[in-house]
Amino acid sequence: MPTKPAHPCAYPNCPKLTHSRYCEEHTKLANKQYERYGRKYRPSKRYGRAWKRIRDNYAAAHPLCEMCLQQGRYTPTEQIHHKLPLAQGGTNDTQNLMALCKACHSRIHSEMGDRWGGRNL
Ligand SMILES: [Zn+2]
Ligand SMILES: [Zn+2]
Ligand SMILES: [Zn+2]
Repeated sequence: MPTKPAHPCAYPNCPKLTHSRYCEEHTKLANKQYERYGRKYRPSKRYGRAWKRIRDNYAAAHPLCEMCLQQGRYTPTEQIHHKLPLAQGGTNDTQNLMALCKACHSRIHSEMGDRWGGRNL
């Protein structure tokens, strides 16, 4: 049994007495917050390993730029485009993807009036 007198929890307005810095409940809370903010911030979970695999598969299945192909040109696929951007609720479903060369891809985005500055291509 600890012989030191208990003191109030260090959490603001918590009346519980404790022998450590926080009461049991707030010790957990403090640890949780530390974990959350200690971890590296990731801007988008959807652009993870799964997307890389989907993109690679799609590029393998569509080795030529789809836009160029429509005009009879054979240009290798360089980038995979989301018809409906993820930021607007689009998915990584193949229905929502397009294989494009860099030139076509940047043209599509400038025609769309891209507000994402090329981040979410
Ligand atoms: Zn507390
Ligand atoms: Zn193209
Ligand atoms: Zn795009």
